[in-house]
Amino acid sequence: MFENYEQFLEELEMKLKNYFEFHSDYICCKEGCSKCCEVGDYPFSFLEMNYLMHGFMKLDKKTQNIIREKIQKLKQKDTGKHFFYECPFLINNRCSVYKYRGIICRTFGLAYFISKKSDKGEPYVKLPECVKQGLNYSKVYKNGEVQVEPIKENLDTPNIINSDLAKKYNLDFGDIQSMLYWFD
Ligand code: SF4
Ligand code: SF4
Repeated sequence: MFENYEQFLEELEMKLKNYFEFHSDYICCKEGCSKCCEVGDYPFSFLEMNYLMHGFMKLDKKTQNIIREKIQKLKQKDTGKHFFYECPFLINNRCSVYKYRGIICRTFGLAYFISKKSDKGEPYVKLPECVKQGLNYSKVYKNGEVQVEPIKENLDTPNIINSDLAKKYNLDFGDIQSMLYWFD
């Protein structure tokens, strides 16, 4: 059912592994560090969401219920306006569906060029939020910028799902929206 998508993810992971290695001097991601899953809106395409829920169905009932409750609580807070929230799949600082996580979850922590231009007309570098918390790139972070060559690929989800790699696997990702809105 997800064979093509899983092959795509395998290739994507190889590419991202190289990027993480390229910047390994500035990266301090480790198991149990979860700040990147605590404040976000987690854009997920329909395909990614289906895969995530495929992973959810493999969890024990107790964990599923905890996640359901978290989703319900978040939905109560939702006023229809864009807001940031802790991912409901985060349990005890760990992703409960790690193998099935979304594309954005795999790129968390990297600094990369995006097509938007800065005020000076230069390519804009997207930085991980945790740079301000003394984590990734913090040792090369000064005046809102990192003093290293960023990765020269836009790793935002819309860009990845329209990439040649995604085309190679003939994937139909469907619409993208904040994770929470898939639970209507
Ligand atoms: S799905 Fe997992 S990795 Fe992605 S934001 Fe949620 S907890 Fe974090
Ligand atoms: S991206 Fe930042 S918050 Fe997330 S695991 Fe890496 S260091 Fe921790």
